[in-house]
Amino acid sequence: MSSIAHCLCGAIRLAFDRTRVSRPDICHCASCRRATASPLTAGFALPDTAWRWTGRTPASYVSSPGVTREFCGTCGTQMAYRTDALPGETHFYIATLADPASMAPERQAFADEALPWTAGMMSLPRAD
Ligand SMILES: [Zn+2]
Repeated sequence: MSSIAHCLCGAIRLAFDRTRVSRPDICHCASCRRATASPLTAGFALPDTAWRWTGRTPASYVSSPGVTREFCGTCGTQMAYRTDALPGETHFYIATLADPASMAPERQAFADEALPWTAGMMSLPRAD
């Protein structure tokens, strides 16, 4: 369990086995959009034998029947997503990785819920 992810304030820390990661993807669903306050998010799945919290225990919220989202009670960072439909695994967010550039999404989930302007985001003029 040598890979690390953490929340904005650092209180919640995740240690996981990078070799057990599956399905790194972008999610366009309306629930993830609202939970993360972002137009889309990127996540990955781990079997529950391949990760553990090493800092404080996250707060949790049941966002729809059978779906629990876990987040830092101090800084608010979304840290995990779990659904009864996929027992034995938990989903985490690529943006919380110590090195988020190292894991690229490989597909899009809930693409039919995508905000129409997300497809052109990377073509916008740069503000910097
Ligand atoms: Zn935090």
